[in-house]
Amino acid sequence: MEKSKKQAGTCPLCLREEVETTVHHLTPKEMGGAFLTTAKLCIPCHKQIHALYTNEELALRLHTIPLLKDDPQIKKYLVWIKKQPSSKLLKVKKSKEKKKRR
Ligand SMILES: [Zn+2]
Ligand SMILES: [Zn+2]
Repeated sequence: MEKSKKQAGTCPLCLREEVETTVHHLTPKEMGGAFLTTAKLCIPCHKQIHALYTNEELALRLHTIPLLKDDPQIKKYLVWIKKQPSSKLLKVKKSKEKKKRR
């Protein structure tokens, strides 16, 4: 069984470069996609997809990158992620947010 191996590449969804990618089965393995197309997505995109959609939805209507890109919820996410520098994403920002006290 292949573990989700981390490697640097360009994410086909958000198009950010030099990001860590993991293998996503465009048709989930649970839905018979074990030998079908995979895509190397960056970690935030990958997590986002699985957070938004069930395996059924992915298999039925979001089984290609263009379909994913065309989804309204993904589109919203992509607008946001593109503004995020790739390296900053994984770090927790230490900012002045702690200032608010009650
Ligand atoms: Zn991505
Ligand atoms: Zn996946």
